[in-house]
Amino acid sequence: MRTSIIRKSAGDLRLPPNLDAAAAANFTWSQARAELQGLPGGGINIAHEALDRHANGLRATHVALRHLDRRGHRRDITYAELTRSANKFANTLRALGVRKGERVFLLCARIPELYIAALGALKAGAVVSPLFSAFGPEPIKTRLALGDARVLVTTTSLYQRKVAAIRDAVPALRHVLVVPDAPTATVPSGTVDFGEALACAADVFATEPTTEDDMALLHFTSGTTGTPKGAVHVHGAVVTHFATGRYALDLHPEDIYWCTADPGWVTGTSYGIIAPLLHGVTSIIDEADFDAERWYRILQDEAVSVWYTAPTAIRMLMKAGVEMARGYRFPQLRFIASVGEPLNPEAVWWGKDALGLPIHDNWWQTETGGIMIGNTPAMDIKPGSMGRPLPGVEAGIVRKTADGRLEVIETPDTEGELALRKGWPSMFRGYLGQDERYRTCFDGDWYLTGDLAKRDADGYFWFVGRSDDVIKSAGHLIGPFEVESALMEHPAVAEAGVIGKPDPMSGEVVKAFVSLRAGFEASDALRLELLGHARKRLGAAVAPKEIAFLPSLPRTRSGKIMRRLLKARELGLPEGDTSMLEGS
Ligand code: ATP
Ligand code: MG
Repeated sequence: MRTSIIRKSAGDLRLPPNLDAAAAANFTWSQARAELQGLPGGGINIAHEALDRHANGLRATHVALRHLDRRGHRRDITYAELTRSANKFANTLRALGVRKGERVFLLCARIPELYIAALGALKAGAVVSPLFSAFGPEPIKTRLALGDARVLVTTTSLYQRKVAAIRDAVPALRHVLVVPDAPTATVPSGTVDFGEALACAADVFATEPTTEDDMALLHFTSGTTGTPKGAVHVHGAVVTHFATGRYALDLHPEDIYWCTADPGWVTGTSYGIIAPLLHGVTSIIDEADFDAERWYRILQDEAVSVWYTAPTAIRMLMKAGVEMARGYRFPQLRFIASVGEPLNPEAVWWGKDALGLPIHDNWWQTETGGIMIGNTPAMDIKPGSMGRPLPGVEAGIVRKTADGRLEVIETPDTEGELALRKGWPSMFRGYLGQDERYRTCFDGDWYLTGDLAKRDADGYFWFVGRSDDVIKSAGHLIGPFEVESALMEHPAVAEAGVIGKPDPMSGEVVKAFVSLRAGFEASDALRLELLGHARKRLGAAVAPKEIAFLPSLPRTRSGKIMRRLLKARELGLPEGDTSMLEGS
């Protein structure tokens, strides 16, 4: 039966959860920091914690990365091997004259070299910026220039197709290392063979003495609401990666963990590279793109125990039908989490039906560097809620008063802007080249997230919408998430994206764009049925007035529905920055 709460009991937990009442009560950031090793002379470095701690200890021969190539061939890399390779890359950077703080960009599919280069660059004190390999030349050029790239790691084919033509436009880019990605591929002139360079380098390296305030990562936001912003992160963020890996993802030493995100999106770095290594677990890296059968096979055959994915992937699995899931077995799977977009209650329940476990939503942003709010294994789930703040995180619902002061709203179930009290270690330290914009994200002690939310009396947070997406219709404030979730409950609907369409009478009217599940056809009758379904669920004031069918909705490369694009197209306005549009 579908209840408004999924209660957990001891029987739902295969392992004692890392986050219990005692852990929550005793948590401090400084105690989390004390569990990390730190560098010999003081200081802290993400890659040292991720690699050296294990390579010089009991985890040396444990598999760190299990890479699956497109044909499904496996390659296991142990902690000791990964550390030696990262050291070789760090020495290569040194030999090229790369200094602390200089930027190393990565433009590769999810191949082992991407992980080696990211970790080696961090050890060398360089700043890592991973890009989606599907980017075209223009967004690559913009980001390389904005980020002052000194080094680029890519593959021969990506170089030829996307970088060669723009290289002259990025004069600061001194060194390009290429991984040959076809047996006959020759290394283009003006580039260095990645493998050959590493073969000549020593496999020991004294990690650069970075401090917690030294810049480590540069991540571009998803571009859901506009031009992507370059968020600056520091080595001290590793404390958040560590604590959230433990408490939000519940990593235990023998876990087989799979984060499906690409490192071009912050999730694929914080939780696809760093957090699992900090916990010494084995991480699955799948080079191929989404394919429902392939994903079920990986979950089953690799005996994945903790799985971190995104609503877009879950919606695609739902679209493929629950029967497909039932053809596989997942006896090892014990925890599933999701991030990136609101997770519709339907999707939480689908997890239970198809995979035997509910999906645990969590919330964070490129700017926060790590998970801030989440549903953890021992918590009861209220489907549709993003959960509660993690230990060490203080979240509030705020609004500006008429005289411009920031007020924290204490009354439960009241909408306002989601804010976080400053002080968590992975908070971003700037938007590259946009100091003023960075400053406007803060008010006193609070970081303002730009998302609207509510908190209920039990301390659970409910996502309402991004402030730019909220619809104002005839005096009502309507969050698109609520409308989309209601539409998703209908068996015909695979995905829904909702916008406000300007209207002379009501200010805005709600318009929904819908893509259908396999076996359903768009028709006027179905449109009427969906309008009726929504009206029954939401009431006439909130339900969409118009519904349009689309084969699929426009999405960012990290899988988020781009409502701003639906709106621009609807109104015949310029589409704005589409560098992050999937398939562009
Ligand atoms: P941009 O800032 O360039 O418009 P973006 O905000 O989508 O892009 P990210 O940093 O990848 O870039 O995404 C963070 C945002 O994603 C959050 O501010 C929120 O709007 C949304 N989000 C993330 N997780 C959740 C969640 N669990 N529920 C609802 N929304 C979420
Ligand atoms: Mg954002």
